[in-house]
Amino acid sequence: MIENIRSFTILLLIWSSITFSQTQNPPKLILQITVDQLRGDMPNKYLKNMGDGGFRYLMDKGVWYTNAHYGHANTETVVGHTVLATGADPSVNGMIANVWYDREKGKLVYNIEDEDYTILSANADVDKSTELDASQALATNEGRSPRNIIVTTFSDELFLKTNGKSKVFGISVKDRGSVTLAGHTGKAFWFSKSNGEFITSNYYYEKYPEWVNHWNKTKMPSKTYSGKAWELMNDKSTYMFGTEDNMPWETNVAGFGITFPHEYKTTDNKYFTNFLTYSPAGDEITLDFAKALVKSENIGKDNITDFLAISFSSTDYVGHLFGPSSLEAEDNMLRLDKTLANLFAFIDKEVGLENTLIVLSADHGGPESPGYLKSKGIDAGYVLPDKWDKAPAIETLKKKFGIGQELIQKFFPPYLYLNEKIIAEKGLSLEEVENAIAIELMKIKGVALAVSSYSLQKNELPDTYLNRKALRNFNATRSGNLLILFQPQYFINDYMGEKTSANHGGPWMYDSYVPVIFAGWKFKGQQINRRIEPKDIAITLSNLMGTKPPSGADGEVLPEIVQLKNNK
Ligand SMILES: [Zn+2]
Repeated sequence: MIENIRSFTILLLIWSSITFSQTQNPPKLILQITVDQLRGDMPNKYLKNMGDGGFRYLMDKGVWYTNAHYGHANTETVVGHTVLATGADPSVNGMIANVWYDREKGKLVYNIEDEDYTILSANADVDKSTELDASQALATNEGRSPRNIIVTTFSDELFLKTNGKSKVFGISVKDRGSVTLAGHTGKAFWFSKSNGEFITSNYYYEKYPEWVNHWNKTKMPSKTYSGKAWELMNDKSTYMFGTEDNMPWETNVAGFGITFPHEYKTTDNKYFTNFLTYSPAGDEITLDFAKALVKSENIGKDNITDFLAISFSSTDYVGHLFGPSSLEAEDNMLRLDKTLANLFAFIDKEVGLENTLIVLSADHGGPESPGYLKSKGIDAGYVLPDKWDKAPAIETLKKKFGIGQELIQKFFPPYLYLNEKIIAEKGLSLEEVENAIAIELMKIKGVALAVSSYSLQKNELPDTYLNRKALRNFNATRSGNLLILFQPQYFINDYMGEKTSANHGGPWMYDSYVPVIFAGWKFKGQQINRRIEPKDIAITLSNLMGTKPPSGADGEVLPEIVQLKNNK
């Protein structure tokens, strides 16, 4: 009898521990959406003319965190995407910038380039004669893989938990928007502006799945947009910026123009596919490919949770070209809203929104165009760093240390790399040189912080807003000898001659502020105003799904999300 009671108790204990460690009715699909350069206030700013199924659905039916900020200094695309994927700071996950100087290879490298792999399609590599994404154009080979991400992602942990039975995919116009979220174990597809197709590398596949070949053969992008133009969705008088289409601070890149309609031109124009990405068309194309993927790969069809990450890139390009307060940005937001509504309706039909955990965020926010701010009486401007080499302060340093032009190996914002070899050959202390340069750089107008690697490594700095952000961005192998940050509303907008209207990448609130929204599945409308970080998403998902945490994740588990684990 006692024996029986004991085994019954043990059974009960086992049973209850299973009940409480396993999520009840886990989602069949986790749909992680990233909107590139979606500052936290943007959905609300343009909400008035939005429909019901997109942002309004997320707002009314989802858990909306209204005070989420990144904690790292360099708010760039790959950096934010990797924080979302891994729940780790760039100092830990290794993705400190879109482009860094590889000291071993002696050259600038693009974040996810990998010379051990190639693209599966011919003529799909970045076309440097037309590529206007400045960091993308710096890739030195066509291969792509997640190998530079030195920790695991949530998607990896989900894959490992099920021993590979969870299907994991990432897609985006940008390679770095898809490779990051797909992690090391998933499959990534991105849009080639060279051939107008979705492509991948042989890191992921030996050959394309048949459905990808089929989608590419439909020539959806050229069939839909060749000879057409990006026109306003609604009557011009209904827009907040309806009378402000033609503003001097907008940039006319490759003839795309600064007023509506923006002509895509035809397929024989060498910028045709670039123009598609500078407009809502880029997101519409991504959505079309995502639908093909969901259907062909049977996503969300069984009881093993699948993971699909979609990164929408158009908002970023539109923000760079015209600024977030422009008629183009306003229309783009309305069309993004429509694209999201279309996606949610599709997922509802295929998987059911009650079976789908949606989480939406952004890789970074973005600044206003300085011209726009100045027109409203707020000080703002562009920084021109190309003259820095000749700044009197730097000249003094070169004389002091007896080193000429070669003192600076490379300046690729926000990092400045010194010629460590020459400094060593001269018998100088690298620490002393770094610190002397930091002091001189701080004297240059517009510089808010110049901080040396040595001072970050020794943790000798006062605990200030900027120093904390610098530290969380610091990776000893990849970061430069100096990190340079600019004062609020000031930034570099010129990369190798290419100018943009607005450029994120700074530490200030407009660049760090993003929405974090969980919707679908068991969520009910709720607004949370507590300060959180986007890096909380990965550890929250892993807690919810009962995986082990991604290897570098150190965010907080969001209680509003995981408390639903035991709800039927
Ligand atoms: Zn950007």
